[in-house]
This record gives sequence, C-alpha cells and structure tokens, in this order.
Amino acid sequence: MKIKIGIGYDIHRLEEQRKLYLGGVKIPFSLGLVGHSDGDGLIHAIIDALLGAMGEGDIGQLFPDTELQYKDIRSTELLKEVMKRLRKKNFKIIHIDSIIIADEPKLASHILDMKKSLCPILQIKEDQLGLKAKTNEGLGFGSQGKAVACWAVALVNKK
Ligand code: MG
Repeated sequence: MKIKIGIGYDIHRLEEQRKLYLGGVKIPFSLGLVGHSDGDGLIHAIIDALLGAMGEGDIGQLFPDTELQYKDIRSTELLKEVMKRLRKKNFKIIHIDSIIIADEPKLASHILDMKKSLCPILQIKEDQLGLKAKTNEGLGFGSQGKAVACWAVALVNKK
C-alpha cells in the first residue's frame, strides 16, 4: 500500500447575477462565484488535491475552460469524473481537510450540508472530511466580499 498526499488551492471572484455554490451546496447570498463552471472553489481545490495525490495534472488540464461542455457545469459533476479516475487507478481516500476563506457570507451554518453533499461522492464518512470556514479579517486576499479562496489537502492510498 502506497500513501500519497496532494494539495489544492483555488480562488474565485464574487459578482452579482451569479449563484453561490460551495461544497456542492447552493448558498443564499447576493453574490456568486464567477467561473467557467459553477465556480465552486472548494470542490476545485479538492479536485486539485486529489489529482496532486494521484500524481496527475490539475483541474484546468482535465476540464479546460475553453470547452463548451464544461460551461456552467456543476462542479459536483467534475468531482464525480475525478473519482472515477481515482477508482480506476486503485486509489482510495484516507482523509481530506480543507479551508474556505471568505469574509462574506458566513458559512458555518452550511458546513454540515456541504459534508452531506460531498461525502457520498468522495465515498468517505463525514469524519474523513474536514471543512473549516475562516474569514480573512478584512485584510484582502479573498476578503472584503470580493472573492472566496479555498485550500484542500488529500491523503490517499493505492492498493
Ligand atoms: Mg476554480
């Protein structure tokens, strides 16, 4: 058994006339994340962490933002594709930890819904997925309601 680790990071701008999706959950807010897909930066960070752990490229290589088939796609669909790849290569997730950095909206009350949305796709139990929502104290970088930034690390093993 080989144990591997991967890290992922993503940031998306918040703008009007976009829906806000994070961790596969639609969150009521006046702004949403801009992206070729639904802009779900938490899922994108998790995907990059998983791809990194598998020793593969990144989300942009796998799902190019020039391809129309990925326009406005729900990121949960992209994650399902990555999980197919992971299983095909005989990897299993041991643990994922993640941080969402956003001054607004407040996300603590949505964490459980995010776990319920992500764990079945990742095929892990809720105690194998860490999700933490932090603010940046209004100091810029994913703060002041301008953007949401996400970090994720994934530990996997290969049979
Ligand atoms: Mg992204």
